[in-house]
Amino acid sequence: MKDIGFIGVGTMGCPMASNILRNNYNLSFYDPYVSEENKKKLFDLGAIEKSSIADLCIKNEIIISMLPNGNDVEEISLGKDSIINQSNKELIFIDMSTILPSDSIYINKKLNEKNIEMYDAPVGRLVSNAIDGTLLIMVGGNKNNYSKIEKILNCMGSDVIYCGKAGSGSTMKIINNYMSIVSNIVTAETLSLVDKSGINRELAIKLMSSTAAGKGHMNLTYPAKVFKNDVGPGFKNLLALKDLKLAINHAEKEGIDLVSGKGVLKTYEAAVEGKYKDLDWTAMFNYIKEINNLD
Ligand code: NAD
Repeated sequence: MKDIGFIGVGTMGCPMASNILRNNYNLSFYDPYVSEENKKKLFDLGAIEKSSIADLCIKNEIIISMLPNGNDVEEISLGKDSIINQSNKELIFIDMSTILPSDSIYINKKLNEKNIEMYDAPVGRLVSNAIDGTLLIMVGGNKNNYSKIEKILNCMGSDVIYCGKAGSGSTMKIINNYMSIVSNIVTAETLSLVDKSGINRELAIKLMSSTAAGKGHMNLTYPAKVFKNDVGPGFKNLLALKDLKLAINHAEKEGIDLVSGKGVLKTYEAAVEGKYKDLDWTAMFNYIKEINNLD
């Protein structure tokens, strides 16, 4: 499968398509709003521009999209001039945009009814990684045909991870981003407090890199306790709540509003009203599952 069609050659799509071209694939692209700069970059590497999706699908066996939103992906896959209307039965569609998992699953199902295989394969990391071909790529879809697309994904990413059935790539991407986006604010609040409290920032970062703050609970505290079904203290939730209140109190005196800390305070307060009071702080994993009716 050496002929690739690419839809959406913007900030990420252009360098990703460029890396496919550098690996000696034939590539044509469709993007009605492409910048002159990106167009030139792709032409210089031998790409061909197509003026419709119908045209793009004539020769190509694999179609990749890298678009802003779920409705864009739905438009190019299920809309009027779209992938679903093409007669090429061998078509494999790989959507690499970041979209809602339920949208990936819906589009996959619709295309599958027309014998078109689809994979959701959103990417992690930065534009610089798209340029270097070192993206993290999280793939969901039919495992049986996965080997057909793996080589192409390897042109764009250094870590290509098969995550499971349709929608699993999109799901993994959103979950990963949830954690990094929320912890971004906790990090910003923490370092603001460090600066305002007159603590040397480098010292604080070095120090916190050896604790759960910097190493992360998934890597440090959970494997040692709750993952082993051991939630005896340890560090009791009651004491964690006390320390959280100390931090919020100290920050208020320094004129810093710990918005995320105050949000989390309510969860700890609710947990310590019951049996979690004297349990290890990693038992909060069980508490969160309990209030969400999970086993
Ligand atoms: P972008 O806006 O730079 O590029 C999107 C491209 O799609 C544009 O060139 C646009 O003209 C084209 N396009 C829009 N609608 C189209 C349509 N109907 N048909 C054909 N082409 C169409 O966006 P981007 O930064 O490349 O992001 C693309 C996706 O990658 C998004 O889902 C984003 O969340 C995800 N992502 C971005 C980054 C990043 O750092 N930029 C990192 C990881 C993931």
